[in-house]
Amino acid sequence: MKCPACKNELQENVVAGIKIQACRGECGGLWFDRFQFNKLKALKPGIGNSLVTIERADGVKVYRGAEHACPACKTTLLYRHFFDRKWDTEINQCSKCSGFWLDLAGLAKIQTLPENQQKEAVENYFTNIINKKLAGMRLLHGDMAEQAQVLDQILQFLHPGKELEE
Ligand SMILES: [Zn+2]
Ligand SMILES: [Zn+2]
Repeated sequence: MKCPACKNELQENVVAGIKIQACRGECGGLWFDRFQFNKLKALKPGIGNSLVTIERADGVKVYRGAEHACPACKTTLLYRHFFDRKWDTEINQCSKCSGFWLDLAGLAKIQTLPENQQKEAVENYFTNIINKKLAGMRLLHGDMAEQAQVLDQILQFLHPGKELEE
């Protein structure tokens, strides 16, 4: 499977029984296919954190004016849930297979800050970026609210953020 953004060969990682394809050494993007989703709930938050900080190549930024094809379906284009240049975060999903493609470079950068600055930065990140957007998705009905739930679980798997109020 190739990275939808930079075409690097994705590497399979298994964390607590969850298979994640990672663009190691290039853009650092992560691919979650939907067969993993129902396993996420039972896991301890943050157990997949090492995937956030996998090696990235400097300067491989694939900020996309263009859309990118799903790495699994190949022809279907991913659609973008979030993009934030300042927080260096992008979250995309395939409407056909429901897989998620995430670039959380901004969160990785926060994790390299000295510990005393880290807590506040993480809180900011989740409050201003992640939770705000998830809350917006939840206001929409049906499928989008469901996808927000899955995305919340993926993010909790990657980093113990502040949990959303129901
Ligand atoms: Zn990549
Ligand atoms: Zn797909």
